[in-house]
Amino acid sequence: MVSLRLFQMSTRHLALQGNYLRSPAKPVDVEMLGSPAFKEIVFELFRLMYDGRGVGLAAPMAGLGLQIMVIDVGDEMPRAFVNPQIVGVGGQQVIIREGNLCIPRLFANVSRPERVSLTAIDVFGNTITDIYEGFLARVIFHEMDILNGSMFTDLIPPNSLFSKDPDILTANALTQLYGNSSSEQITTIREVNVIRHYLSPVTVSPSLLNLTDTVLRRKCEPVKLEAWNPDDLTNVIREMLWQQHNLRGVGLSAPQVGLSIQLSVVDDGDDPPLVLINPTIVEESEDTDIAPESCSSVPGYIGSVKRARRVTVHAWDLMGRLCDVTAQGPLARVIQHECDHLQGVMFTDHLESLELLHAVDPEAKAENALVRLFGAASN
Ligand SMILES: [Zn+2]
Repeated sequence: MVSLRLFQMSTRHLALQGNYLRSPAKPVDVEMLGSPAFKEIVFELFRLMYDGRGVGLAAPMAGLGLQIMVIDVGDEMPRAFVNPQIVGVGGQQVIIREGNLCIPRLFANVSRPERVSLTAIDVFGNTITDIYEGFLARVIFHEMDILNGSMFTDLIPPNSLFSKDPDILTANALTQLYGNSSSEQITTIREVNVIRHYLSPVTVSPSLLNLTDTVLRRKCEPVKLEAWNPDDLTNVIREMLWQQHNLRGVGLSAPQVGLSIQLSVVDDGDDPPLVLINPTIVEESEDTDIAPESCSSVPGYIGSVKRARRVTVHAWDLMGRLCDVTAQGPLARVIQHECDHLQGVMFTDHLESLELLHAVDPEAKAENALVRLFGAASN
């Protein structure tokens, strides 16, 4: 059953007369708080937010001109604010990347204060006043703008939005990898569009993870560079990059598109893109950290994996030269995840039990958020 939907538009529409997203939302009548309709709205806002992999959502984004916003920054504390008012700001200006699910795949770096104090009522009608900092403050500022009929795009210079469209990301990555001159021959966006359908992702459910007869579980063969036509290799890399961006991942390995060869691409959007041919991890720090991981080949699940904080990998590059890549933090994690794929190892193998794998079904997450907000007896 579909109840609320996001309304989506391009930036051109943002300035058009009558755009509902541009009119200030009205305060919620406190009488409404105990009603099933109110609870449904809160549920739907969470569902839409999780579905779009967002961290905050304001009711006007679903066409409801009411002062309600929901937030989940991943700290196990979903929040819902009704009739919120900013009563103070503080700290330095901080620059963080922002986007809005109503104008999909467009982002900009936005400068805002690092601290906000907010007064709002909770879902039961109790007044809460608190000071929020860091990323949470950022999300609050962002959603408050929407309740006031403005948007993060109003705070940035013209033409400073950047796109996360897979065609554009792939073209950018290829330009960085191959340089400008050769990219003219190989990376027009039209070409990327034509090419992308040839390879498609292989997936399994958690219950099939132990099946050995899947390409995901096979140890991949080394790429014999001398036996490959360079154009074929370039095309495979381009298709893999396109799939990685389309799946909104940060890396992809050849077995994930049905090719059992030792080839991975990594483009996390922060570091220069990498193509790893026949990679071997030659050094691993003893220092480890635990962070949530997911995989395009096991869609809809997430699990916390312990990995080395820093790695050095030996791999061949596009020119057939052996090189060393040293990485740390999130990039080191992605490299380890991709190198695992080439050995038939999945991130789930690092979990003590598959029960530690969590479904990220937006509906289930929204239900969970409601239980946390309204209490277990809410349904
Ligand atoms: Zn993976």
